[in-house]
Amino acid sequence: MYKSIIEAPFIKGYARMAQEGYLKGWHERNGGNLTYRIKKEEIEEVTAFLDLSKEFVPIGATVKNLRNEYFLVSGSGKYFSNIQCATEENVAIIEIDDSGENYRIVWGLVNGGKPTSELPAHLMNHSVKKEAINGEHRVIYHAHPVNSIAITFVFPLESKVISHLLWEMMTECPIIFPQGVGVVPWMVPGGEKIAIASSELMKKYDAIIWAHHGVFCSGTDFDLTFGLMDTIEKAAEILVKVQSMGGIKQTISNDGFRELGKAFNVTINPDYLD
Ligand SMILES: [Zn+2]
Repeated sequence: MYKSIIEAPFIKGYARMAQEGYLKGWHERNGGNLTYRIKKEEIEEVTAFLDLSKEFVPIGATVKNLRNEYFLVSGSGKYFSNIQCATEENVAIIEIDDSGENYRIVWGLVNGGKPTSELPAHLMNHSVKKEAINGEHRVIYHAHPVNSIAITFVFPLESKVISHLLWEMMTECPIIFPQGVGVVPWMVPGGEKIAIASSELMKKYDAIIWAHHGVFCSGTDFDLTFGLMDTIEKAAEILVKVQSMGGIKQTISNDGFRELGKAFNVTINPDYLD
């Protein structure tokens, strides 16, 4: 039994990831949001700290396969820079009801507040990932990394083009995101439309770039999800530098990518290698 809920490893891991993202410069002001689908055994260890008296309110999306699940979520308008030092003021645990249409806060946001405005997008992505890969993915992460945003002003907003360019920038990229990255054209954030567009792409990709806005990543745990964001952003940074030096003069060939896939036993999206 924990003296305080913030001793629970899943909350500590969440707060550490938020802090690392902040230190990377990906979370200006209240930018970004992070949600974690809590494991059954993890929520059972903290039930003594939960308040089950609040009313359920609509999610703004229907996520039937997430019914009765618990999520750790960042708060709307809250700053990532404050999550590690004042966790209970800036994040919440929410419970999804039996219909998959409503949620309630059962812990956190102690000074008031609501979950992230991107809650529908997060939960729809969790729903898609839970169904697609046996419930292995538990983390959905949205950040505003500079170079990943910058490249959306210069290159065509096509998944194939951007994925291939990012793969070329660092040899291990196609091993880390072999399917490539999805690209969502510019849309108003926070609503159902962008949530649907994102969750459609999340059926295929573990990472999607929102043009002129940021990146969404999905993963099994905090390290892998953060690592995916970090890798994409680093590749985008190299791309920006290469462009600034006059553009690509030589690169890895598609045959090279195929050899790489064989050597690492990874299927690199063949549709992007022609
Ligand atoms: Zn954003």
